[in-house]
Amino acid sequence: MRLLSFYQERSLRVVRAQGQYVWDEHGRRYLDLHIGHGVAFLGHRHPKVVEALKNQMDEIMTLSTAFQTRAREEMLKELENVRPEGMENVFLLNSGTEAVELSLKVARKVTGRRKFVAFRNSFHGRTVGALSVTWNRKYREPFEPLLEPVEFLPFNNVDALKAIDETVAAVIVEPVQGEGGVVPATDEFMKTLREVTRSKGALLIADEVQTGWRTGKIWAHQHFNVNPDMVTAGKAIGGGFPVSAVFLPDWIRERLDEGDHGTTYGGNPLAAAAVAASCRVLKEEGVVEKAELMGREFLRALSPLKERRIVREVRGLGLMVGIDLKVNPGPAIKTMQDEGVLALKAGTTVVRFLPPYVITKEDVEFAVATTNKGISTAESKVSAN
Ligand SMILES: *Cc1c(COP(=O)(O)O)cnc(C)c1O
Repeated sequence: MRLLSFYQERSLRVVRAQGQYVWDEHGRRYLDLHIGHGVAFLGHRHPKVVEALKNQMDEIMTLSTAFQTRAREEMLKELENVRPEGMENVFLLNSGTEAVELSLKVARKVTGRRKFVAFRNSFHGRTVGALSVTWNRKYREPFEPLLEPVEFLPFNNVDALKAIDETVAAVIVEPVQGEGGVVPATDEFMKTLREVTRSKGALLIADEVQTGWRTGKIWAHQHFNVNPDMVTAGKAIGGGFPVSAVFLPDWIRERLDEGDHGTTYGGNPLAAAAVAASCRVLKEEGVVEKAELMGREFLRALSPLKERRIVREVRGLGLMVGIDLKVNPGPAIKTMQDEGVLALKAGTTVVRFLPPYVITKEDVEFAVATTNKGISTAESKVSAN
C-alpha cells in the first residue's frame, strides 16, 4: 500500500518531536522551521496542549456542536481574548481551505453578489472554492471550470484596486502572502483596500490561516489598523491539532440561516480543547511578543545574506521569514536539511521559515549558519551550469 502524497518526499523518517526540534531514527536532531506547514507554532507537543487533549479524551472525544460541552464553553471563553476586533462569532472547521470555503459562501449569501477578487501569488487552499481564488495556474487549470467570476489583481498595487466595483461580493487577501513567497502587504495597500471595499459594499476577507498568531500581533491585519469583515484562521490555532475557524461579526451572523453550512467533525470536543489550551498558552506565555522579538532577531541575523550573489531579498514579518533567491531554492533547502535545519519552499524562488515561537538565539544562529551553507550549494549549482 502506498500513501498518495502530492508533496515532494523529504527522505527523512521522524520518530520524535519536542518544542522546536524533531529527531530521526538515528537519534539525529533537527531544528524544525517547517513545523508541519506552520502548524506547530507553539512548539511540538506543547505540554499544556498535550495535557488538555489527554484530559479531553478521558471525558469525550466526539460530539456534534448541536450539543453543549465544557470544552466548547472553555474555548469560547478563551477566544474572547484572541478574537479579531468586532467579531463576536466563530465557526469551527477542520482545515484552512474549509474556512476559506465558508467565508466565500457567506460573502455570496450576505451580499447577493457573485464575483470574487483575489491577488496575484495568492494561496487560499485546494478545494474548489478556495482553489478558484488561488493564483497558481498549475494548481487551478486541470480542474477548471472553477468558481466564476474571479479577478486577480496585482498585490500591493494601490491603483489596481480601482477595479473593485459594486459587482464584487468579497475581496480575499493574505496580509502577508505565505505560499506565494512571504510578501507582506504594504500599509497603504491594506488601508486603501479597506476603504475601497467598504465604499463599494464588497466584503473584505483576511485569510489569516498562515499569518494568524505568528507575525508579532495576534492577527496580521492588526499591523495595518484595518478591520476586515471576516477572518479565516487555521494552522497555528490548535497548537498542533487540526482545526480551523472563521470569525465574523453579528451583522453577518444575522443574515445566515440554519442549514447554510455544516460539518461533521468541525468544532469537536478535542478541537475545542486544543484551541482553548492554545489560546491560554498565547496569553500566559507572551507568545505574540516573543514572536515579534525573535522575528526581528531572525531577520537581523539573516540580513548579511543579502550580500550573497544569488540572494535577491530577505524579508518577513514576525516569525514568518523568507529569503528570495535568484534561483530555485530546492538545493539550498536540501543542504539545510542535511545540516540539521528544516525549511520550506515558497513561490518558485523563496526559502521560507515558519519558526515556532520557542526558538532561542542559539537556534537562530544555527539556522543562519546553515542557511549560508545552503546558499553556497545553490550558488555552486549556478556556477556549474
Ligand atoms: C495553508 C493555507 C490555506 C489552506 O489550509 P489547509 O489547512 O492546507 O487547507 C489557506 N490559506 C492560507 C493563507 C494558507 O496559508
